[in-house]
Amino acid sequence: MKFFEHITVKIFAVFILALWLMPVFSAPPKLRTATFFKRQYISLYSIANMYRFRVTARGGRVYMTGRYHSFSFTPEKMAASFNGVQITLCHSLYQKNGVYYVSKMDYDTMLMPLINRHKMRKHYVKTVFLDPGHGGRDVGAEGRYYYEKSLTLRLASKVRSLLVKNGFRVIMSRRSDAFISLKDRVAAANKYKADIMVSIHFNSAANKKVYGLETYCMTPAGASSSNASKIDYKKYPGNNFDRNNFALAYLMQRAMLSYSKALDRGVKHARFLVIKEAKMPAVLVECGFLSNPTSEKIIGNDRYLNQIAKGIAHSIVNYRRVASEASLK
Ligand SMILES: [Zn+2]
Repeated sequence: MKFFEHITVKIFAVFILALWLMPVFSAPPKLRTATFFKRQYISLYSIANMYRFRVTARGGRVYMTGRYHSFSFTPEKMAASFNGVQITLCHSLYQKNGVYYVSKMDYDTMLMPLINRHKMRKHYVKTVFLDPGHGGRDVGAEGRYYYEKSLTLRLASKVRSLLVKNGFRVIMSRRSDAFISLKDRVAAANKYKADIMVSIHFNSAANKKVYGLETYCMTPAGASSSNASKIDYKKYPGNNFDRNNFALAYLMQRAMLSYSKALDRGVKHARFLVIKEAKMPAVLVECGFLSNPTSEKIIGNDRYLNQIAKGIAHSIVNYRRVASEASLK
């Protein structure tokens, strides 16, 4: 009997041919989009399918998990989390007929750089512009013992020396107790062609119980800021780096939390002037609440400021590496 006439050999040959042809006939997974409220959304299941994640819903939450990725969402809410760090979506997670949808904007500007950290604009970071908030007649938030303006300068100086040790060129908006307008701060960052900008602040709230850390990045065009409801469709200079802004903010919030063990109030979006007009990836950190008496005591301590400074510097070192390996122009 000839070799190819043998039935098992024939079956085996067909099997090999089928295996070989499979990639040709089975279409690659595609993102499924839908339009709600005149806005584009993407089905969470199609995202999961594309990246081999699993979607599970339990206890009013929706989880999308993979080997290194763990997202948690809440239907009809903007609050979400990634690998244990709180993030704020531009639009609430939407649910229809048992399918969960995330807005295309959130997929593009947040999920994408979190899923694949190389999916942001490639750039090299050498010059860091540090902006200690307030100064001079503008004292910022007032605690019982401290003015925000002096704490921001103390913290920024610590960050500066850590960054210099790591080979960065650091420019500061102020190095003394001087008043500088917001416009002049961002103008200086742009003039010196800084590669990233970090504006440093401490918080205050009417409710004295509130405490924790927040990191802000520029709100994408067509979304409302996390603490507002008005949608602005205009694109500002700060929108040229939406993915990088978010990646830097996420890394910074994560590192500050890991060094300080402070409460996580999340990565949020805002159109603060200093990040809105910045022509480079920019973030604004709120490093604790001076209005909370217990927090104020901790914040005023060098130990805490050193931990936060290490977090900020560590995330910038981390971001420098990731941004230099990024794949988008
Ligand atoms: Zn401030």
